Amino acid sequence: MELRELLIAAAAHAADFREQAAEARVFPETGPEAVRDALGTLPEGPAPAAEVVDELVKAAEPALVANTGPRYFGFVTGGALDAATAADVLTTGWDQNGFNAISSPAAAAVEDVAASWLKELLGLPATASSGFVTGGQAANTVCLAAARHHVLARAGWDVERDGLPGAPRIRVVVNADRHATIDRSLRLLGLGTGAVVPVRTDPQGRTDVGELARVLSDVDGPSIVCLQAGDVNTGSFDDFPAAVEAAHRRGAWVHVDGAVGLWAAASPTLRPITAGVEAADSWSTDGHKWLNVPYDSGYAFCAHPEAHAAATAYTAAYLTGQDGFRAPSAFALESSRRARGFATWAALRQLGRGGLAELVDRCCALARRFAGLLADAGVEIGNEVVLNQVLAAFGDDERTRRVLAAVQRSGVCWMGGTRWHGREYMRISVSSWRTTAGDVDRAAGAVLSAFRRERGAAFPAAGPP
Ligand SMILES: *Cc1c(COP(=O)(O)O)cnc(C)c1O
Repeated sequence: MELRELLIAAAAHAADFREQAAEARVFPETGPEAVRDALGTLPEGPAPAAEVVDELVKAAEPALVANTGPRYFGFVTGGALDAATAADVLTTGWDQNGFNAISSPAAAAVEDVAASWLKELLGLPATASSGFVTGGQAANTVCLAAARHHVLARAGWDVERDGLPGAPRIRVVVNADRHATIDRSLRLLGLGTGAVVPVRTDPQGRTDVGELARVLSDVDGPSIVCLQAGDVNTGSFDDFPAAVEAAHRRGAWVHVDGAVGLWAAASPTLRPITAGVEAADSWSTDGHKWLNVPYDSGYAFCAHPEAHAAATAYTAAYLTGQDGFRAPSAFALESSRRARGFATWAALRQLGRGGLAELVDRCCALARRFAGLLADAGVEIGNEVVLNQVLAAFGDDERTRRVLAAVQRSGVCWMGGTRWHGREYMRISVSSWRTTAGDVDRAAGAVLSAFRRERGAAFPAAGPP
């Protein structure tokens, strides 16, 4: 088969899968073992490319998750817009090295355009530097590396040259409900999770700013404060104006983990809950969550480009590159890298400013609809539904787990479970451009019928004595 037919065949498989995702089971009945058994033996010789693709499709397809479909509510992740998906297919075909403008002028330029659009949409300073990375984890790591550079440089220590042995101890003052990726970034950066000073939160996971100010006044030496735009469980936002002010008064660097919630800034209706976020020193967010860009896609932004580049660039010639154009890899963790700008540009171009605002608003309205349908039927909603996240409990932890497992098995929709402030919840996250009110009604119907079955099992109809 010619390359042309091969690529068209592969794209057709992808298109079929995406089309069928609207009606197919959301979570497959085939497990990972079956796929491993089908593909696991190392072949001795080569195979024609077309057969390779067929073999892969045949073995993998039964165990794919329909997270590109409209009733996937797991992990705060979206479903990849059509234009972004097609652009990602092109990215693979073009196979550009997004290292700098010499390895690919197009990749460097498109990433630059997409970065400035993102900053504008998210209300971040136009002068902020940006790194296109693999996701929220990598974005947090890049931003905290920049923070590490900055606070140690101010304490007279060159961490890039001298490393951490003998350096002043950095304290990392964080929201007690932070995402686990913050801790992993601290481990990778050699700051250690022992550097964490947790700050108490309210029942929605918002940092107690009075407590933050008290904790900071006890911290001597270099410090970093991590805040959240959109808690992964409740969707709540920290009080940025007060928290950033308290942190900056003590000379701390403020990092905002906005993997999910920074997108609220792109909606004129929701933007007020992100007020003050632009005064932070660094921000991370995800493309593969609410922007509906295919995996993997995340962004690190930094208000201090020189600190960002000092942490991640090869050389000081970071702003212009060797050839006079900004080198995208100077602001990420990789050297040779996927040209991530194409898919992001395509997502933003397909939506436009108004489309992105509408996507964010619609997901939030659908989350409120979901919560309302459940609450009306006697389900306990565990959070204030301020964004696209809903926590639902169905009685004790055991029953919540059973209802969740039944819904996941049903194939109608999929959502995960979470532990929040000591209790088990079903976590519903509405993040896909494909989700409609009808999908929410169907999914809520599946949840409620599982709930009624479990409740019926707990209180069987009285029989003869
Ligand atoms: C999802 C998430 C992350 C991690 O992002 P990945 O893209 O999975 O690496 C970090 N912080 C928050 C708040 C998140 O929701």
